[in-house]
Amino acid sequence: MFEKILIANRGEIALRVIRACREMGIQSVAVHSTADSDAMHVRMADESVCIGPPSGTQSYLSIPAIIAACEITGAQAIHPGYGFLSENANFVQIIEDHGFTFIGPTAEHIRVMGDKITAKDTMKALGVPCVPGSDGGVPTLEDAKRIGEEIGYPVIIKATAGGGGRGMKVAQTAADMESAFQTARAEGKAAFGNDEVYIEKYLTTPRHIEIQVFGDGKGNAVHLGERDCSLQRRHQKVFEEAPGPCISDEERARIGKVCADAVAKINYIGAGTIEFLYENGEFYFIEMNTRLQVEHPVTESIFGVDLVREQIRVAEGLPMSFTQDELEINGHSIEVRINAEKLPNFSPCPGKITAFHAPGGLGVRMDSALYDGYSIPPYYDSLIGKLIVHGRDRAEALSRLNRALSELIVDGIDTTLPLFHALLQEEDIHSGNYNIHWLEQWLETNMG
Ligand code: ADP
Repeated sequence: MFEKILIANRGEIALRVIRACREMGIQSVAVHSTADSDAMHVRMADESVCIGPPSGTQSYLSIPAIIAACEITGAQAIHPGYGFLSENANFVQIIEDHGFTFIGPTAEHIRVMGDKITAKDTMKALGVPCVPGSDGGVPTLEDAKRIGEEIGYPVIIKATAGGGGRGMKVAQTAADMESAFQTARAEGKAAFGNDEVYIEKYLTTPRHIEIQVFGDGKGNAVHLGERDCSLQRRHQKVFEEAPGPCISDEERARIGKVCADAVAKINYIGAGTIEFLYENGEFYFIEMNTRLQVEHPVTESIFGVDLVREQIRVAEGLPMSFTQDELEINGHSIEVRINAEKLPNFSPCPGKITAFHAPGGLGVRMDSALYDGYSIPPYYDSLIGKLIVHGRDRAEALSRLNRALSELIVDGIDTTLPLFHALLQEEDIHSGNYNIHWLEQWLETNMG
């Protein structure tokens, strides 16, 4: 059993992991940059180690500094959270070479799923339905044009190493191909050091539906249903819910089984998310994330399970604490992501919090590292909190979200909260009638 776990992350996700550790009687070690000395994760952990200057590359992304912190504190395992080093196969390898345990999948699983072309080939071979597109990488513009004609426009050109909505360009017609192809390659090269791209049919009205899977690394795996994350800005999720308003019990059971069987076959260990676009009753695989997702709390809410606790258990070699048959959906859950950003342009807005009050009451969960007087540093992601609500059904979850938003106070900086107040006035949000383009169109009309 682990006695001490180091959390290689910051912000709300570091708190999330510290909470699970404390409930399990495990000591926690926070690491932090000099800019985060006063951060909540440092205050809440049992111990903390400063690992470098403010820049992420020299602190939260510094593998030697994190390994040294493990050695100094005697932590036996590392939880990576999401972002930073969570999907870095090299990091996992180094952790294992030093005799520590990585709380997550193997380096090999991360490598396979981190390259979107290899991931797609692997999933196809495992019987998972994929978006029609090129067979592997597309090396030249001539190839790209030929494939565009074959699958039919519009198409999307994607960097195989892409992530976080970067390295993707749409070509509406053949005339757009040259610039879309070159831009996607250049973005892949600049952001991920890899200019390989592939092409997919661009679906025009899909929803983003992702399946939460969980494996024990010994050939057993379950699914925990879907999350609908269709409300996106620049391919980034802002509002997520479970179950999906348009997914039937039969569809969930069918696609869930396909996903659980696929990850069982590769002896997957820990939490994973298989992302699909869903259009006209069909699922099309786009990518797999080999880590805990930002939006995991909506799944926890409807199944009443603690996914971080499960991650720690299977990393220790213990079995999962539930079987597929025991996983039953209870009610509906919604999460909104609160960012330190100024509307309408969503420009980053770090600064000092002059007043903070978190909402409470039945069915309300606030995952945030904010506190009164905290100064949000300008060096990191602008996500400052997640408000998660749970209700007996979708209507109750929405009214609870409305009520919780009315209680939440974040003063001193601009946040994305006004966006959610406004969205709750929209009929389409209440009817669940939206696809991945809905929010961009709404923003153009209402905030453009
Ligand atoms: P990332 O790794 O950057 O998150 P994904 O492949 O997961 O990229 O895609 C992110 C989002 O981009 C999807 O949720 C969807 O909104 C859009 N997208 C990706 N592929 C397609 C496609 N083939 N057709 C239409 N939209 C797409």
